[in-house]
Amino acid sequence: MMLADTPIRLDRLDHIPTSLIGSEPEAILDSLPHPSVITLAGDRGPPLWLSLLLHGNETSSFHVLRMLAERYRDRPPPRDLSIFVGNVRATAAGKRFLPGQPDFNRIWSDGESPYHALVREVTEIAREQNPFASVDIHNNSGRNPHYGCVNALRPADLHLAAMFDQLGVYYRTPSSTQSIAFSAFCPAVTIECGKTGDHDGHMHALDFIDRVLDLDRFPDTAPTKDALKLYHTVGSMIVDPDASIAFAPDEADVVLDEGLEALNFVDLQAGAYLARAGSPRSPIAVIDEQGHDLTDLFFDVDDGRISLKRPATPAMITRDLDIVKQDCLGYLMERL
Ligand SMILES: [Zn+2]
Repeated sequence: MMLADTPIRLDRLDHIPTSLIGSEPEAILDSLPHPSVITLAGDRGPPLWLSLLLHGNETSSFHVLRMLAERYRDRPPPRDLSIFVGNVRATAAGKRFLPGQPDFNRIWSDGESPYHALVREVTEIAREQNPFASVDIHNNSGRNPHYGCVNALRPADLHLAAMFDQLGVYYRTPSSTQSIAFSAFCPAVTIECGKTGDHDGHMHALDFIDRVLDLDRFPDTAPTKDALKLYHTVGSMIVDPDASIAFAPDEADVVLDEGLEALNFVDLQAGAYLARAGSPRSPIAVIDEQGHDLTDLFFDVDDGRISLKRPATPAMITRDLDIVKQDCLGYLMERL
């Protein structure tokens, strides 16, 4: 059998290994050598589902797991808790995913790989448990406020996001994420807890989980526009792969404003300055989810200055130029 076709083992546990208490992400394989589903019996059902470490280098969820291991070592949680711990090998290596692996948050739709089979098994386990809600915990690579992502505009999903933070993002693409898959059978949210290693992110996530565990039921009506500021993505900002790029004051074909990262989730007006370019055409394109080029709709280039042509809200802008080149500079959003 080819290695690539070898099924991936899924462990089932009825407790969180206490060896995690006080341990570090690099040592996770000592406690959880394989992807695992951990089910804790609580004071009532149905369970809250947590999805942790789909991205191995986003370790807020590791710290949440460690704190839950300590808290529920000797007593049951107020509600059943089911926890999927995903890419443990990448966690041990401090990587988003390992060479030869897919991104663990892009495999929750149809596919033939052993990784797809793994999460199909997890999804089936979850579906049979008829979860109260699903929470997938992540970190951002750039400096962003904390926010929740939803994939359905149902009152329960929106309340779940609002319970985490006032900022929310609605998306349906990419369609292969954990929260889209789980939103087919329960309220689901992805929470973005700031940068990896940010202690506030760990505590915010844990506090949110506590409040969801204590919740009896979700309200029937959607939260107010003040309780949840909901955005949707209109396009990603892609930098021309042939252009050199730098943050000011360094020189390059595209010179990004030094304070660009601080604009994440700031509602910008037309005219807001973003970057300087040596060419009359913008080397930063705005591409929507269907691949349409919206650059001329959003950007003005005047004497080398790239600025917004219409109001928009940037998100997920990163200062990591490797990510900018491989993926994108960030996204433009509008209020839903
Ligand atoms: Zn992530």
